[in-house]
Amino acid sequence: MRHFAIVGSGPAGFYTAEALAKAYGDAARIDIIDRLPVPYGLIRFGVAPDHQSIKKVALRYDKVAEADNVRFVGNVSIGDAVSVAELRSLYDAVIMATGAPHDRRLGIEGEELPGVLGSAEFVGWYNGHPDHAGHAPPLDGEHAVVIGAGNVALDVARILSKTLDELEGSDIVAHAYDALAASRVRDVTILARRGPHQIAMTPKELGELGHLEIACPEVDAAEFPPPEADDALEDRGLAKSVGLLRDYAGQPCDKERAIRFDFFARPVRIEGAGKVERVIVERTRIDDTGRARGTGEEYELPASLVVSCIGYSSPPIEGVAYDHRGGRFANEGGVIEEGLYAVGWARRGPTGTIGTNRPDGYEVAGLIEAAMAPGSEGGKAGGEGLDALLDARDVHATGFSDWRKIEAAEEAAARAGAPREKMVSTSEMLRLLGHE
Ligand code: NAP
Repeated sequence: MRHFAIVGSGPAGFYTAEALAKAYGDAARIDIIDRLPVPYGLIRFGVAPDHQSIKKVALRYDKVAEADNVRFVGNVSIGDAVSVAELRSLYDAVIMATGAPHDRRLGIEGEELPGVLGSAEFVGWYNGHPDHAGHAPPLDGEHAVVIGAGNVALDVARILSKTLDELEGSDIVAHAYDALAASRVRDVTILARRGPHQIAMTPKELGELGHLEIACPEVDAAEFPPPEADDALEDRGLAKSVGLLRDYAGQPCDKERAIRFDFFARPVRIEGAGKVERVIVERTRIDDTGRARGTGEEYELPASLVVSCIGYSSPPIEGVAYDHRGGRFANEGGVIEEGLYAVGWARRGPTGTIGTNRPDGYEVAGLIEAAMAPGSEGGKAGGEGLDALLDARDVHATGFSDWRKIEAAEEAAARAGAPREKMVSTSEMLRLLGHE
């Protein structure tokens, strides 16, 4: 019997578990461990609440969790309740699938002012992540600034601009729904430090901005290169996104809210007396290497809320080699060292879609299979050893059937038309399970 521990129950963790479960069948036991009592990571806490069809992928993960050779072990924080070294002594392989839950920093003056949030904080707030549910983003001013030109910036701008009707059917949590109901935000400026040809926004997500009830995108045609330059774009998705931006530039926004694209614009300072009031922006141009360079020309944008959507990093964990530059675990093709692996964003950094994690997880499972053939003897204590350790430390782990109880309670509490009303605190979840 072989024993595998996967740390993290997001997409990367589940695809790796799926691959290992298939490869080893009854010759392995796989524990998917999460620090939260509930599974799914990015699917539950990152994917936008109005993108329910994407969240349906969790149905596939359920099948994995319910397989005889797989367990979900929630409410166990690795690096805290149990060390990585202890885990390695109990399991034949440990796979780090911890994602990238920390915001990358802007590194500019004023970043610490109240009203400036990173996207992990803001998205975590509206998605009910227990770490972020307590934020109170200021929505009492008219102007919001969103920094970054990726899909997360689009998610944030869209959620800030939708009506409550448009959020029907979403699983946005009650505190965010109520706060958005009272929101006075009338315009959102998306600050992109490079130009329309350098965006990281995909066409489907960008296209959604053209169909909002009371908001529309505003794009300045003067910021585009000549139209023939689009022909040179090799990435067809990018070419489509640029086409959408050009369409937006050709239609003046006539709705009550605007989502304004400000290209060649980088924030250099955030100012305000005790809270954010404005962002000082510098015009940029792109140099020969494709990087944004400041021109020295500055202007200010009023802002009562700033959300920086410039990427994420994985926090280091004791006992796991770390790549400080990349903000992820140091690894070669998923191998950190013998018996210790990384998958997903913890391996590659925060890029790619949910589907990207499937080949990633399968590849690392293949490396494990090559290193320890199915049927070979492991001799480690596995899950039984972990359970004994948790008992001795008075840690109440949650299982998949506990998650099913939480899920049923969330579905029962849903507002009309919504799939669920998420519990947003760990202690509330544990109380429901009788653990507190
Ligand atoms: P991202 O795609 O890497 O975009 C980050 C953006 O931030 C880039 O435009 C980048 O500009 C900009 N940026 C970085 N540092 C900056 C700085 N110091 N100042 C100003 N701008 C800065 O990251 P993301 O939006 O967080 O998305 C993460 C991943 O999740 C992506 O692969 C994304 O596609 C995926 N995702 C997908 C969906 C979906 O499919 N619906 C939804 C959300 C996220 P430069 O290009 O100039 O560096």
